[in-house]
Amino acid sequence: MLSQFNQFLLNFSLLITSLLFAFLPLRHVKLISPASPVKLRILIGFIAGFISVLLVLNSITYDGAKIDLRLVALVTAYYYGGWVSGGITTLSILGARFAVTPPGAYEGLILTGLICIALLITASIYRRFASHTLKDYLVLIGIGIGYSLPALYLLTETFNRFLEIALVYIIFILLGGYVTYSFLQELRKHFQFVQTQQELALTDGLTNLANRRKLDETLASYDKYGFAFSVLIVDIDFFKSVNDTYGHDGGDVVLRQLSHLLEHCCPDQALVGRYGGEEFVVLLPDTPLKDAVRLGETIRLACADQHFVFSTYPAFHVTLSIGAASSDQGETSFEVIQKADQSLYQAKQTGRNKVVAYSEE
Ligand code: GH3
Ligand code: MG
Ligand code: MG
Repeated sequence: MLSQFNQFLLNFSLLITSLLFAFLPLRHVKLISPASPVKLRILIGFIAGFISVLLVLNSITYDGAKIDLRLVALVTAYYYGGWVSGGITTLSILGARFAVTPPGAYEGLILTGLICIALLITASIYRRFASHTLKDYLVLIGIGIGYSLPALYLLTETFNRFLEIALVYIIFILLGGYVTYSFLQELRKHFQFVQTQQELALTDGLTNLANRRKLDETLASYDKYGFAFSVLIVDIDFFKSVNDTYGHDGGDVVLRQLSHLLEHCCPDQALVGRYGGEEFVVLLPDTPLKDAVRLGETIRLACADQHFVFSTYPAFHVTLSIGAASSDQGETSFEVIQKADQSLYQAKQTGRNKVVAYSEE
């Protein structure tokens, strides 16, 4: 009994370890379901199939029966990937079962095939009435157990022996299924949490634009790969007086409305971010300075035309000063930002509400 327990534990560890390794490359896939792309479902089928092969090769032999957690791998494949994944897993299980079957003793192999097919058919019918919950997962495991027991009965020598094995089998499969399901759900929750935190760490809380860290990371990647780019630094004119007139909340509303305007005006490949306070940055990869200046003009005019609305105040206008520069001399991103900053300063000094492109003079 102890050695059988040990062997089950080995089977179980094999299942969980291989699931973890299989999960890691798929951790960014939002949700795997029978509606996922067929390539992904085929991949799930092969992964679960490979895990099943490992489980079958390490199964415990009682009389003519071979007991392991392959049922959990099959139900998991079906549960996430539908019949495409379940079908591939079934073929893998049959291949492995054939490999460990002594010549002539094909009874177990045939029964395995029948159980898998019956399970897939029943599961397809059950699925129409089910949702994606632990209960439904365990029902599928239960159906699998229900189909396996008669086979176990046929393959064992006495009824007492059958009862003894069936009890161990049911406990281990149910336990294995429950832990596998919980483990996968926990992994998914964990990776979703990490992904959300990563996104938050790079997003400005007020405007939802890229934050300074994201902008700096992007600039560092331009330096690393030697990408050419242009930049616009956009600063609201006399923003302090907006705050003074409409309060800090009114100022925040302007910042949010301006962020929508910037996203609306900029092309898809641009990265729009809030550099801090009332200063925004637009990074334009592979864009000549003259195109950046044209975009700056579009933004400036769109903002000057915009009616900003806050609370019960009459609609009001704000203007922008914009500095533009590009990496046309092969400068580092730091130097390009400095050039754009100088241009912005010049725009402020020479009357505001204008775009100034960097020039050497
Ligand atoms: P200039 O035309 O020279 O740019 O003048 P300005 O008033 O826009 O510039 P200044 O740097 O004097 O003031 C910027 C103001 O922006 C001061 C600060 O209180 C305000 N500010 C910074 N961050 C926020 C924010 O998150 N929300 C609001 N409402 N105001 C902010
Ligand atoms: Mg300002
Ligand atoms: Mg400023």
